[in-house]
Amino acid sequence: MPEYSLQLENLSKTYGHKDEENFVYALKDLSLNVNQGTFFGLLGPNGAGKSTLINILAGLVIKSKGVVKVQGFDQDSEIRSFKRSIGVVPQETNFDPFLTPYESLDIQAGLYGVKKKDRKINHILKKLGLESKANAYMRSLSGGMRRRLLIGKALVHNPKVIILDEPTAGVDIELREMLWSYMKELNANGITIILTTHYLEEAESLCDQIAILDDGELIAFSNTRDLIERINLKIVHIKYNGYLEKNFDLPKNIKIKEHENKRISISYNKNHFKTDELINFFRSMKLEILDLSTEEPDLADVFKLLVKKGNS
Ligand code: ADP
Ligand code: MG
Repeated sequence: MPEYSLQLENLSKTYGHKDEENFVYALKDLSLNVNQGTFFGLLGPNGAGKSTLINILAGLVIKSKGVVKVQGFDQDSEIRSFKRSIGVVPQETNFDPFLTPYESLDIQAGLYGVKKKDRKINHILKKLGLESKANAYMRSLSGGMRRRLLIGKALVHNPKVIILDEPTAGVDIELREMLWSYMKELNANGITIILTTHYLEEAESLCDQIAILDDGELIAFSNTRDLIERINLKIVHIKYNGYLEKNFDLPKNIKIKEHENKRISISYNKNHFKTDELINFFRSMKLEILDLSTEEPDLADVFKLLVKKGNS
């Protein structure tokens, strides 16, 4: 098996014409490798280029430049093997209203040349909680059910790499948990999972590795833990006694948030500032520290620090 499940080399996508106003670089010289068997998270604010990347992988959008490989297969020169290696769950749902979920998956399996005896339609329907709807009319399916069926369609040909674009956006917690336990199970069986999500806690708990896109460029790519640690962010919560002056002079790179009942939260970079300096600073302001606790930063904090707009 090749070392990487996904390889991108200088991948670019532009929309519009160079001299026109609506010209955008949705992806800008993106290079990255995803190891075999990784649970990989692709994050970024709205408009970062996540869907563009996923739609390129799905063959729905044509790249402008660069190389894309899945399981070592080149998208341009080994298209059949490429397609067979990958299952993509796009953001949008679109179904033939005259098919039942069973038929829809069976036809999809046929399109991929999966032999009748090798089709695991019932297994997939069961895993997605759609067993009882196997032979129902498509129009009787709720939005959540359709979304699950979309995932099923990406799985019928047993791809080595599964790519999901915001699969849990607007989906209830129960369904979200069911999907994730299924994805974890597939991942434990060696399948590479690549997903985009808006839920940072989700990415933090599921993903081994994370890439952050902003304005079509890769601004971080790392193990999830390393990424959080590399930021060196420290958050301290203090309950104090005394009068906290407004507009006091803050040492640089420190952010203070005031709460009720004489509590404040202070965040700073560990490399630039030490906790005892913070305590000294408080003493110099004639404030008594009644209670002090520290908090480990999470992905949301990291994300806010890294992305330009920080609005997502
Ligand atoms: P994300 O999924 O991260 O929110 P997208 O990949 O959808 O981001 O969009 C990236 C950029 O490309 C945005 O600036 C968006 O407006 C632009 N874009 C996406 N699709 C099109 C399109 N079909 N035509 C023109 N611009 C597009
Ligand atoms: Mg998107």
